[in-house]
Amino acid sequence: MAKKMTDSYLKNNEQYANGKAVHKPSHPGKQPINPAKHVAVVACMDARIDVEDLLGLQTGDAHIIRNAGGVVSDDVIRCLIISHHLLDTSEIILIHHTRCGMLAFTDDLLKAGLEGDPAAEKLLGQATSRKFTSCKKCASTPSQFHAFRGPLEPLDAARSPKQTERLEWDVRRGMSAIQNHPWIPTSGPDAVTVRGFIYDVDTGKLGEVKYPGPMGSFS
Ligand SMILES: [Zn+2]
Repeated sequence: MAKKMTDSYLKNNEQYANGKAVHKPSHPGKQPINPAKHVAVVACMDARIDVEDLLGLQTGDAHIIRNAGGVVSDDVIRCLIISHHLLDTSEIILIHHTRCGMLAFTDDLLKAGLEGDPAAEKLLGQATSRKFTSCKKCASTPSQFHAFRGPLEPLDAARSPKQTERLEWDVRRGMSAIQNHPWIPTSGPDAVTVRGFIYDVDTGKLGEVKYPGPMGSFS
């Protein structure tokens, strides 16, 4: 059963995009700790994304791990290892989305702005339409912000082929990080499966990312 859940969630997503709710919001009563559908979802924290609704997840079905970008960071790997080995999930769904804020800055730019570079402050202010106020201090953490690779675009820019390509690169990067981690098995009887998607915040629809696939070039 576990390996087929992603496909049934994709069907739920079609309903959601057509205005039909699948997720039931009321408390379901006492439930076990292990996710009932053996699923773990990694998604961006974007306010326009409601993971339970867009996948038609019910309370108790899945672990949902969210951060800026839905990036497969060290902490997401930590969560997935615990999710699989201790709580019996075996199907991972990775979700990035259109118009993501992680397309609109670079790690160097944000760090420079926070440290007090006036040019970076100005650029970040223009990019976000919010006065960027530098802290004028240096810090060793976070070591990375994990902004997405590729040419910057304005915050909340509409979907374009280039934007889709940049999102796909990062989904593939995340899938690779999961599939190649020595503590996340992807073969044998305890294997985990991973599928990656781009969620369109304008239409409510999920689109699957082919893996493996292109990772871009600086040329
Ligand atoms: Zn996002």
